[in-house]
Amino acid sequence: MTELLVLGGERVQAAEGATTKVVEPATGEPAWEVAEAGPEDAHRAVDVAARAFDEGAWSRTSARARGRVLTQASFLIRERQEELARLEARNVGKPISAARAEMDLVANVYEYWGGAANKIFGETIPVVPQGLDLTLREPVGVCVLISPWNFPTVIASWKIAPALACGNTAILKPASQTPLTILAVANILTQAGLPEGTLSVLPGPGSTIGSALIADPRVSKISFTGSTEVGTRVMQAAAENITRVSLELGGKSANVVFADADLDVCVESSLWSVFDNAGQDCCARSRQLIQRPVYDEFISRFAGRTDAIRVGPPLEEATEMGPLISEGQRQTSLDYIEVGTKEGARLVTGGDVPEGAGFYLRPCVLADVDNSWRVAREEIFGPVVTMIPFDTEDEAIRIANDSPYGLSGSIWTRDLGRAIRVAKGIRTGVLSVNSSSSVLTEAPFGGYKQSGFGREMGMHAAALYTEVKNVYFNEE
Ligand code: NAD
Repeated sequence: MTELLVLGGERVQAAEGATTKVVEPATGEPAWEVAEAGPEDAHRAVDVAARAFDEGAWSRTSARARGRVLTQASFLIRERQEELARLEARNVGKPISAARAEMDLVANVYEYWGGAANKIFGETIPVVPQGLDLTLREPVGVCVLISPWNFPTVIASWKIAPALACGNTAILKPASQTPLTILAVANILTQAGLPEGTLSVLPGPGSTIGSALIADPRVSKISFTGSTEVGTRVMQAAAENITRVSLELGGKSANVVFADADLDVCVESSLWSVFDNAGQDCCARSRQLIQRPVYDEFISRFAGRTDAIRVGPPLEEATEMGPLISEGQRQTSLDYIEVGTKEGARLVTGGDVPEGAGFYLRPCVLADVDNSWRVAREEIFGPVVTMIPFDTEDEAIRIANDSPYGLSGSIWTRDLGRAIRVAKGIRTGVLSVNSSSSVLTEAPFGGYKQSGFGREMGMHAAALYTEVKNVYFNEE
């Protein structure tokens, strides 16, 4: 059975009848057939979204009514959490436990924006005594949302939920490898009461359909999450029509471990700060900066724990790490392991390919890395971690900041003053102290430097999806 496109809420074939096979990473074999959108579908979706926006069934309904639909969607997602989690686990190759947690996050996001919809408002500004000045927060119009394959349903929902809460119409272009769960969620939104024309989901290749959507002058906003390389092209293309754009891009984040850290907690948390989702995480702390007095002990404990990670089929309850998304992604990781060892890194453990089908790779620890090497500068996006020693607080901040990226990071210390100084010193959009958390539904998320700009999540995201109109009333 072919999974269909969602066009303004309706399930349809692609205009040209094209379909594509979606591969299951655990087997390496095609497991689903999905309608593949082309430029004509992109054009149709913008037609539908622009018309729906102008007609106002969603954009001019009450904010409370919009909120109710999103809240209802969150209930329906929770009801179907297990089914959606199993689909996500198979499609992306992630452990079922992680997929369940992600579906919970997805429901939280719709719940949050369901409640937030009628709390997005303007202000009054004292300008002159004989007048009244106020601002209106208005939806921007048709939003094109482009999402990656690593947390496909979570990240797409970070965009869909606030865009809709603010009264926009939206077109999602999911990554072609992982369209399945978000198509199901789009159908749930229709079931929850989203009016016709409000949301489309168009799986298809970014180079054709993503470009066609971006080039359409009726699109008012582009929200992109993906690689820095494609993000650069998206920003260039958006410049043609001066379309507003926000970008969530790559990362090479630092996990800074001081000698006074509680190593029992820190090692376990640091392990998953990089190996969660088989390292395919924009926030992966792929540079572990370890203060020299605990450097050897940290690596020894970290490597021991790495060896114990249960790599296996996504649907097995005990699995802690599934396969990578594709053969290409696995090969990239293998290539970087070779690059790193040639640069002088010590391969402590892992990096071997288990026998059998699927894109599995055992997590790999590279030690004694210099921050100037390619393995420390380039995003690998696989289960490969670099260990970098440091001596002083200033040196840790300098190394953490010596990166083209600035997305996430963690600091481990029992010294509060030091935690404050280092948190202020590191130039990234998200940081955690004595924790590996990066994403909290209620708090802003986004990057510095080449990790992009704009803040998703929390009320900060409303700024991405609204225009501010200033209206001055003359009293005389
Ligand atoms: P990608 O850049 O290859 O693709 C992202 C999306 O863009 C996909 O939907 C793709 O089809 C589409 N696309 C590709 N070419 C396009 C074009 N020319 N025009 C418009 N759209 C196009 O990224 P990916 O491989 O899916 O994801 C991995 C990357 O995403 C990593 O670099 C990772 O760090 C980054 N990422 C960032 C965040 C964040 O929040 N900062 C979150 C997750 C992933």
